[in-house]
Amino acid sequence: MPDPLRIADRMEHITASGIRKVFDLGAKLADPIDLSIGMPHFDVPDAIKAEAKAAIDAGLNRYTPTQGSGVLRQAIARACRGEFGWGDDRTYMVTCGVAGALTLGIMATVNPGDEVIVSDPHFVMYSYITRMAGGVPVTVDTYDDFRPDIQKIADAVTDKMRLIVINSPGNPTGCVYSESELRDIADLADRHDLMVVSDEIYNLFVYDQPYVSMAGIYENTLLCRGFSKSYGMPGWRLGWCTAPQVVLDKMKTLQQWTFVCAPSMAQAAGAMALKTDMSNYVASYSRKRDVAFEALGRFGLVRPGGAFYAFCPAPGGEAMAFVTKAIENNVLIIPGSVFSARDTHFRLSYAATDEKLRQGLDILVNLAEQF
Ligand code: PMP
Repeated sequence: MPDPLRIADRMEHITASGIRKVFDLGAKLADPIDLSIGMPHFDVPDAIKAEAKAAIDAGLNRYTPTQGSGVLRQAIARACRGEFGWGDDRTYMVTCGVAGALTLGIMATVNPGDEVIVSDPHFVMYSYITRMAGGVPVTVDTYDDFRPDIQKIADAVTDKMRLIVINSPGNPTGCVYSESELRDIADLADRHDLMVVSDEIYNLFVYDQPYVSMAGIYENTLLCRGFSKSYGMPGWRLGWCTAPQVVLDKMKTLQQWTFVCAPSMAQAAGAMALKTDMSNYVASYSRKRDVAFEALGRFGLVRPGGAFYAFCPAPGGEAMAFVTKAIENNVLIIPGSVFSARDTHFRLSYAATDEKLRQGLDILVNLAEQF
């Protein structure tokens, strides 16, 4: 019998985020110390909020062009001229967050059966979008230091390979790729005619050296950047991307038939955001990184160079057991299995107040003695 509520086959491989389980466990706690969240703890700076409010009052509530408002795209172009030296021939598209850019980029380039290289661990959205496109995510192990091993990546390449997705600084590891690592990946991609998708959503949160982008190294890169993390506005759904024109054109066509455009009031505030100096916020996150490393280094944590995560070996070796115990003790963290084939590490987000971070770390360090 045909079932009117039958679900498409593709949903078989698309399951709810593992982070939900932690939320469900944590929902029973009255006032948890939440070190699980993947967004900054600060709010949108006031000047940016004022622009969004003014935009609503001024009637900027209609559809924008598919590719984004001209004002915001010009501001992005200015920023890229400064960073990459790109000229007027480069075009940009404003998207509904980096999630929007990733969805359009992968959908526009991956055929059923095509393979997409991601690291293990990785931000799992890459795998899910790849599967939505009918593609196959292929993981390349990066334990224990989370650096890209070019030989392992080379070994994973088959004639079905289409994309390499990189994410520096990375979620969940905080690993920042060096210029020479990026060059090795670019050379490999070039040899095998692969496009690189570079998710640079954490590009502002880099603590130890100037940021190097794949987009300045390898021409065939889909560069994705966002506002969610940099300016504390994940709910505004704003991001942008750029790629060689043939790819960007197809992504734009796809945006027409899916997202339509990014939220108009968020776009109106985006140019102000790009002018806003966030260096004090970044400096405070660098200090939080140090605090987390000081507490967790003894458990084998590799010092993260960016983003706002520590991906730490779980005392006792089994992350879910340690995470469950942590939640019983009022601290929310995420088991590594949410991002990985392994469940040996936990992800701690230090995007929290100094006080909450210290309280949470104290509890975790004390707990570790029981494991
Ligand atoms: N990429 C990474 C690595 C992320 O961590 C996130 C958010 N957790 C996203 C993309 C999606 O961000 P956005 O809000 O811009 O869609």
